[in-house]
Amino acid sequence: MRLIIYWLRNDLRLVDNPGFIQACCDADFLLPIFIHDTKNDACNEWGFKRMGQQRRQFQNESLHDLKEQLQQAGSDLMMLSGEPSEIISGIARPHSDVVLYTQKIEAPEEKHEIQNLRETGLVVKEFWQSSMLDPADLPFDLAQMPDVFTQFRQCVENAKLKYALPLKQLTCVPSLPKQLPETSPSKVDTFVSTELAFKGGSKHAVTHIDQYFARRLPDSYKQTRNQLMGMDYSSKFSPWLALGCCSARTIAHRLDSYEQQHGSNEGTYWLWFELLWRDYFEFLPFKYGNRLFSARGLSDKPAVAFDVYRFNDWIKGQTADSFINAGMKELSQSGYVSNRMRQILASYWIYDMNGDWRAGASWFESQLIDYDVYSNLGNWLYIAGRGTDPRGGRPFNVTKQARDHDPDNRYQNFWLSESEQNR
Ligand code: FAD
Repeated sequence: MRLIIYWLRNDLRLVDNPGFIQACCDADFLLPIFIHDTKNDACNEWGFKRMGQQRRQFQNESLHDLKEQLQQAGSDLMMLSGEPSEIISGIARPHSDVVLYTQKIEAPEEKHEIQNLRETGLVVKEFWQSSMLDPADLPFDLAQMPDVFTQFRQCVENAKLKYALPLKQLTCVPSLPKQLPETSPSKVDTFVSTELAFKGGSKHAVTHIDQYFARRLPDSYKQTRNQLMGMDYSSKFSPWLALGCCSARTIAHRLDSYEQQHGSNEGTYWLWFELLWRDYFEFLPFKYGNRLFSARGLSDKPAVAFDVYRFNDWIKGQTADSFINAGMKELSQSGYVSNRMRQILASYWIYDMNGDWRAGASWFESQLIDYDVYSNLGNWLYIAGRGTDPRGGRPFNVTKQARDHDPDNRYQNFWLSESEQNR
């Protein structure tokens, strides 16, 4: 009897999850697991935890939602805590016919975990399932993909690619194995929750996506997307996309149906265009691998000396610029910041404070509830001029940005106390 362990990573959904659906077809018994990686609780090289409180909470909510769905389907989600390859090889060891299925993640640490598992003799099948486009449909090999986004987009558009069709709904989930592994339970259950604007889980993703389209917000997306305040100026799909509570192609399919019903316009095109940026950043590591994660990135610029005092001023929102301080407070208090503000905050750290982009990217990793390895890395490298920006970097004039996007100081007044506003 074949046992499949399905290791859920950033694909916390049952709908349009090709790997999970394949596991359901292939298994006699299926054990869905999630591992709370204890590396995330340890301090990183910059001196803070890799996963901050807001991000942890959003992940917990998503896991509980998934657990409930699996229980309703007659299965369950085992939430474990520890070092992933140790835990998985411990579960697999007593079984002779066991295979691990999991999401493919093209990033060094995640690849290393899979390699460790294969070295124990375990058979691992990986499924790429996070992008809107299927890499197999692209008119070029990923190893030869165009470096510049515009060229990438033109190739995709010329090949008339929009998105890969989502898979049909899963009908049944195989039973759990008779003997469940004895393991220490995950710490995820013991977390104290606070009120967040976003609720994790695919149930909430569906509700959010439904209301976004029902209120016809895509029509105004192009005009509003650079604003800083409120829920409606941009789609806010990113937290659910990052954890895979919904798939990018489900959203793209929804957008397509919306265009068929209401007609396409600048707003709907621009939303697709931004989802394409997401794919572009997901595909880049297939071409450049670990180089993207190095201090130089793809450039020959030297690494920058790390100054912990300057860094602390930036992360605490205690810099010389109140607009930046407001953005950093929003980040740490809400776990989300608009795209425009992310660009400004990153630019300030890199160009005005002469900071190491990797420290900035790590802080975003710890704080953002929509943290995504590819989008975070790709955008930071792009702004730092160490990625694929043909202009060689994007320094923003912070004073001009504040004038353009916060002319009446509403944003700053919202996030800063009175004494902080006049710094
Ligand atoms: P919308 O404007 O409504 O866009 C729709 C979707 O398109 C988003 O949900 C997202 O999936 C995609 N998208 C939009 N802009 C970008 C972009 N610049 N790059 C890649 N995809 C994009 N996004 C993350 O999901 N996770 C991150 O960790 C992350 N880190 C970032 C770090 C920096 C320094 C910068 C400048 C941007 C980062 N982004 C990241 C990209 C972008 O800021 C967010 O995706 C976006 O703000 C999320 O809000 P939204 O869903 O309302 O986006």
